Amino acid sequence: MKIENIRLLPLRGATPDGGWDEKLLRDDTNLHTLIEVVTDEGVTGVGSVFTSETLVRGAIEVLHPFLIGVSAIDPTVTSERLHQQSFWQGRGGAITHAISGIDIALWDILGKVTGQPISRLLGGRYRETIKPYASLLMSDSGQMERDLEAGLMRGFRAFKIGWGPFGRVSSATDQRIIQSARQVVGDDVELMVDAGGSDAFWPHGYKWALNTSKMLEDYAITWFEEPLRPDDLNGYRLLTENSPIPIAGCEVLTRRQAFVPWIEQRAIDYVQPDVTKVGGISEEFRIAELADDRSILFVPHGWNTAVGLAADLQLVAAARNARWVEYLTPSRYIDDLLLEPIIMSDQGELQIPDGPGLGMRWNPDGIAKYTGGMTLTSSAISF
Ligand SMILES: [Mg+2]
Repeated sequence: MKIENIRLLPLRGATPDGGWDEKLLRDDTNLHTLIEVVTDEGVTGVGSVFTSETLVRGAIEVLHPFLIGVSAIDPTVTSERLHQQSFWQGRGGAITHAISGIDIALWDILGKVTGQPISRLLGGRYRETIKPYASLLMSDSGQMERDLEAGLMRGFRAFKIGWGPFGRVSSATDQRIIQSARQVVGDDVELMVDAGGSDAFWPHGYKWALNTSKMLEDYAITWFEEPLRPDDLNGYRLLTENSPIPIAGCEVLTRRQAFVPWIEQRAIDYVQPDVTKVGGISEEFRIAELADDRSILFVPHGWNTAVGLAADLQLVAAARNARWVEYLTPSRYIDDLLLEPIIMSDQGELQIPDGPGLGMRWNPDGIAKYTGGMTLTSSAISF
């Protein structure tokens, strides 16, 4: 079975609020692109890329000679060839992002062809359910508290709050936000804090991060994410050694090789690759296994789409060192793209799909809504 065509379905109209520059946040902003791989036998798979269509299209043009006519059922091999063959262009950037989406789609195809969920093809499933944590933006206006209350009503038992004014106004503001969040969720719900140190011109270094980690310990924070600039390897190494609470990071790194020093030097307690950027499922699973062998937990970064979430769920099923999955909520690029809504158990856990491939059904109306009327190609094997 060979790759015959690559289709791009750019998403517009519901980009979630995040750390983007205001100039990027127009109604027609496109920061996420779905990718569809079509095979010569009519089987199709879908992936997701955390990158605009313009860049993905350019990357696909570069990769085109190495993509069309190659095996569609050897995802790790095909993706590795793409990495190697494009070594001199866009390495670690848009090329790697685009390969991420292709890799996810190829795993989806292999799952459909074999009738197995991707997690089983990766070696097997350690778990059938996983605890999602709801990612919410911080605010000092009451909105965060309302969002937390709404999340509790929806059954979430873990929340990550981040960005907004945290680390950007004063230490007193930071503490007030954390105190308020802890009051709303109570003592039995997990609370994580994301400083968002990959924001442009992040002003803080090691001392701020260490002092803040001590404040966060008083509120039983499960982990402190991105308290430093994303490339500050030595700062993270020092902080992880001295912080009283676990340190998480690495969401902006790409390529498995970039993670090696972070894991080998224990610069983080929890590693957070993003499957729609890092190189896809093949790359992320190897990072998760490398981390597991060093007793580092694997927490997929999931600020993307329902397709990205589906890939994360397969990864956390197959990775022994997974405890949570990120679930941005509510998010139209997740909720509206799914044919069946995600159901949470009374214990606040998500069922991990065990159908073929990514194991989720896509909502054609939702896809059409955010792509200007585009549709996925019907697959010769579906479920
Ligand atoms: Mg983050």
